[in-house]
Amino acid sequence: AVPVALVSGLSRAAGIGVLIKGGGALEMLAQVRVLVIDKTGTLTRGSARLAALRTLGAHGEAEVLRLAASVDQASGHPVARALVEEARGRGLILPQPSMVAESPGEGASGRVEGRLVIVGGARLMRRHGIVFPLAAGPRQAAAAASTVLVAVDGTPAAVLDFADPLRTDGGRALMDLRACGITRVVLATGDRRGVAEALVAGLPVDAIVADLDPAAKTGTVAAERRNGPVMMVGDGVNDAPALAAADLGVALGARGAAAAAEAADVVLLVDSLAPLPQAIHIAKRARAIAL
Ligand code: ADP
Ligand code: MG
Repeated sequence: AVPVALVSGLSRAAGIGVLIKGGGALEMLAQVRVLVIDKTGTLTRGSARLAALRTLGAHGEAEVLRLAASVDQASGHPVARALVEEARGRGLILPQPSMVAESPGEGASGRVEGRLVIVGGARLMRRHGIVFPLAAGPRQAAAAASTVLVAVDGTPAAVLDFADPLRTDGGRALMDLRACGITRVVLATGDRRGVAEALVAGLPVDAIVADLDPAAKTGTVAAERRNGPVMMVGDGVNDAPALAAADLGVALGARGAAAAAEAADVVLLVDSLAPLPQAIHIAKRARAIAL
């Protein structure tokens, strides 16, 4: 028989917008010690805004935006959404690209009007053998912004900085989690280290692991398990393998990727981290009653 405490715990969690996929997940929620948390869209709002754009090649600002947004139209990545919104806001009409290939956590490429357009982070450009001038890197003022590089026909075309601020309740959520049994917090991001450091300065974060592809994120989760049961929290397609590898995967469901919600044991149905510490309290109470 299913203990009454368990059923009531699951339904109380559902009442605060936390979907827990069964008794095992509720049990684990009461036991996790290490938090591995994603940055973009999880600790940040994921509603990025274009803060700066520098063109590098022959293409003008509007032209680069039009080509880059065209390739990123089908992506659910927060930065891609911001890019498309910016282009549409400027009244640009986005052509349908062909042969679009998205590489989760890295960016996308495709053909637009016969040109090969690549949009993404430094890792993606390295893989395509495209070298951006060092001076094109982010300026000091934009330290907390995610940088997106655009290449057209194999040549650097632009550097875009997207400001993606911390969730208003992000710092509070980390402190509340530490108050309910989390003893170690690790920020795991596909973005650059400098961006991650600037974002969490002053927050209770023990370690930052940056520039991770999905496999390396999963490796980080696996390595952290030696420090205790790991809860991984993320929102993206690139987080799905890490969510599955953790003792407890938690997905941000409101705006996150479906693949993340499917891979997770717990889904936050509201666009906030705030219910997570509350859910841990509920899990601990259910456990205390059931034992
Ligand atoms: P996090 O792991 O913190 O959520 P991601 O791995 O999702 O971050 O993204 C890291 C970086 O990869 C972004 O800052 C951006 O430069 C690049 N990126 C990933 N996907 C895209 C995309 N679809 N379009 C443009 N850039 C992207
Ligand atoms: Mg993310």
